[in-house]
Amino acid sequence: MKLFNLQHPEEQVSFAEAVKLGMGRDRGLFFPTDIPRLSDVAGLLRLPFVERSCHIIDAWIGSEIGHAAVRQLIEKAFNFPLALVKVDSRRSILELFHGPTLAFKDFGARFMAQCLSEFAAGQTITILTATSGDTGAAVAHAFYGLPGIKVVVLYPDGKISPLQEKLFCTLGGNIHTVAVNSDFDACQELVKKAFVDAELQRELHLNSANSINISRLLAQVCYYFEAVAASDHDGPPVVAVPSGNFGNLTAGLLAQAMGLPIKRFIAATNCNDTVPRYLSSGVWSPATTVATSSNAMDVSAPSNWPRVEEIFKTMGRPLSELSGVAVSEEQTRESLRELYKQDYLSEPHAAVAAYALQKSLQPGEHGIFLGTAHPAKFKESVEQTLSLSIDLPAPLQAVAARSILSKRLACDFNRFKDYLLEDIAD
Ligand SMILES: *Cc1c(COP(=O)(O)O)cnc(C)c1O
Repeated sequence: MKLFNLQHPEEQVSFAEAVKLGMGRDRGLFFPTDIPRLSDVAGLLRLPFVERSCHIIDAWIGSEIGHAAVRQLIEKAFNFPLALVKVDSRRSILELFHGPTLAFKDFGARFMAQCLSEFAAGQTITILTATSGDTGAAVAHAFYGLPGIKVVVLYPDGKISPLQEKLFCTLGGNIHTVAVNSDFDACQELVKKAFVDAELQRELHLNSANSINISRLLAQVCYYFEAVAASDHDGPPVVAVPSGNFGNLTAGLLAQAMGLPIKRFIAATNCNDTVPRYLSSGVWSPATTVATSSNAMDVSAPSNWPRVEEIFKTMGRPLSELSGVAVSEEQTRESLRELYKQDYLSEPHAAVAAYALQKSLQPGEHGIFLGTAHPAKFKESVEQTLSLSIDLPAPLQAVAARSILSKRLACDFNRFKDYLLEDIAD
């Protein structure tokens, strides 16, 4: 697989290089030079998920890393279930939240971790990342116990939910968590400074493992095939994707470009609506990010957007095929209640997509929306909206009793650097 930098097309790299680099020159995103077309989609749809995923990923990288290696990566990464659940006569939800951190990010993070471990080739690397919750948990779990890899996750002390903190700060082993006495932006600033510090680079071989890594997108392509395979409706579905940084939607578009029959996509956002406004006005004007109940989608400058545009360009199709729907907080609550009336307990992110789908479905169409997180992860807002109480699922119950192993640090780069050199470097 060859990829090029969207900012500097002359920069071309292999899949392994793209995974290790993360980004190209000037923070440019890597994009595949060719999108493989699958010859027998109907046959693939009859296979079980892991088996089918091996074929899909093989079409991208089998010739670069070998078929046996692809199978190993997939079998280790996709070791938890997913399910398509019917909500009403026209809508189903693809539940992607049955992994170790109860969010769809487990798919991408686990596959990326396996890839990095495979490509590190004996060198110890240090994954350094800042999180406001979800991503850090998925990354920490994905790399937990992998040989040759250390993980350092920074987060703002006291500013993530206690449950969220328990989920990734109780692992120990090769996972190091740092509670910084400041906010998320300050954590990100410390990480950025570390990446440009020559001494730290030399001693620790830093890697960001961030959300624009191409390996994550390839992993996410696989579950769109499962959505179509498990559907008992005739004809291709409309798919609504709850979107923040638009990685999930990018993966869906790649699946469609490979030949998966999907009628059209709906980009569903909360009131951070840069994309829906852009699709209707043609003007790109990110506003200040506002906090919502679907907080993993509180993004006003989505980092994967250039990839979305590139796919439409590559396929020779107009961007107008994509619908954008922005869903308000009131509509999100209404959607949660409406789903609950259909006997389906959901959470704000999926509820945004369910609402957008309901509004956009035309007569004769049927659709699928993506369930990106387990309702228990957004316990407070779900309980408040529906006036009920939710039991913690087993993985959360298990960690709730463990103690936090995080190092507390003041927000000071030199202190942080000392910590990295003394406690983390060999
Ligand atoms: C990250 C996240 C999203 C947004 O996905 P993108 O790929 O960034 O668009 C939606 N829902 C949940 C629960 C998430 O954690």
